[in-house]
Amino acid sequence: MLDANQMKDVLKNNCVNLRFHARGGQGGVTAADLCVEAYDGFGVSQPKFGAERMGSPTMSFVRLSKNYDLVRSNEQVYSPHFVSVLDESLLSEIDVTAGMAEGGWLIVNTTMNQTEIEMTLGKKNLNIATIDATNIAMEVLGRNITNTIILGALVRVSNIFTMDELADAIMARFKGELAGKNVKAIKRAFEETCLYESPSSIKIDFTKDTKVPWQQVSLGLPGYKDLDLAGVWYTDTNIIKVGSDQVNTGSWGEWNIIWDEEKCTNCAQCWYICPDFAIVIVKDDEKAGKYKMAGIDQFHCKSCQNCIEVCPVKAISKELKQGPGSCAVPES
Ligand code: SF4
Ligand code: SF4
Repeated sequence: MLDANQMKDVLKNNCVNLRFHARGGQGGVTAADLCVEAYDGFGVSQPKFGAERMGSPTMSFVRLSKNYDLVRSNEQVYSPHFVSVLDESLLSEIDVTAGMAEGGWLIVNTTMNQTEIEMTLGKKNLNIATIDATNIAMEVLGRNITNTIILGALVRVSNIFTMDELADAIMARFKGELAGKNVKAIKRAFEETCLYESPSSIKIDFTKDTKVPWQQVSLGLPGYKDLDLAGVWYTDTNIIKVGSDQVNTGSWGEWNIIWDEEKCTNCAQCWYICPDFAIVIVKDDEKAGKYKMAGIDQFHCKSCQNCIEVCPVKAISKELKQGPGSCAVPES
């Protein structure tokens, strides 16, 4: 475990990555935001939103560093150094240790001990911190909201920011009595956190996932016409197994988007506006160095209809997809 000065040194030239696992309604996003607000440096906090509803598993990501360039990434954290789990039932549902950097810490709201957690996860030699945040929440806050409380345990194992900095962030975000109760709760969490250091004593590898390099795009020379269909950036396949071209965004939409070659004037406005690179263009054999429109890539077209809006000659239209996935009401 690093002390406060060692962690300060790490943060000068590295990005410290955090991931929060919670259930919808437990405040995982707020916990992530509070980390950025408490940290005396640069940070980004990003939730991953899907079709969440109350009780469904959620994830939030945080990047912190003194180096502005290192936190400038809108990708999720793939190799967290600290993972906080707000609900112990997630341990058997989600791979909460996925991608964890060697020597990283798993912080769990639970009454289980290290052995029980490792048996639940089917993994050994983890650095584990446990805190009965639910009990503290019920006693101090009067309700089972554990998002601030887990941060008290995070401070204890990480030293990324101090308890005073966390208390200030809480006082700035919450009001009156609620703010005071939350500060009291994090202080209790700090004291009551149980630490189980792995016997392997591996130091945390802070070089991992500091930033995923963009391998295809050169700054100032994007070469955008060479991008794959739906491909935004290639990534390091050791970290992310598939590129964005493998993601079937075409399954999201209710509409088939139809291109009329006869009407199309090749103005390329649809190509510029398509958020998914789903407008297919090919080299024009008759005009050297020029491209021409060739159709719609249905695998990636999510039917946002931007292209329909922008086409000046109404060469793009839509028709409702058929089948159980279709939920749009036909327009008259
Ligand atoms: S509907 Fe949206 S995603 Fe599909 S081709 Fe048009 S702009 Fe692209
Ligand atoms: S905006 Fe319309 S006319 Fe222009 S390239 Fe696209 S389909 Fe063709």
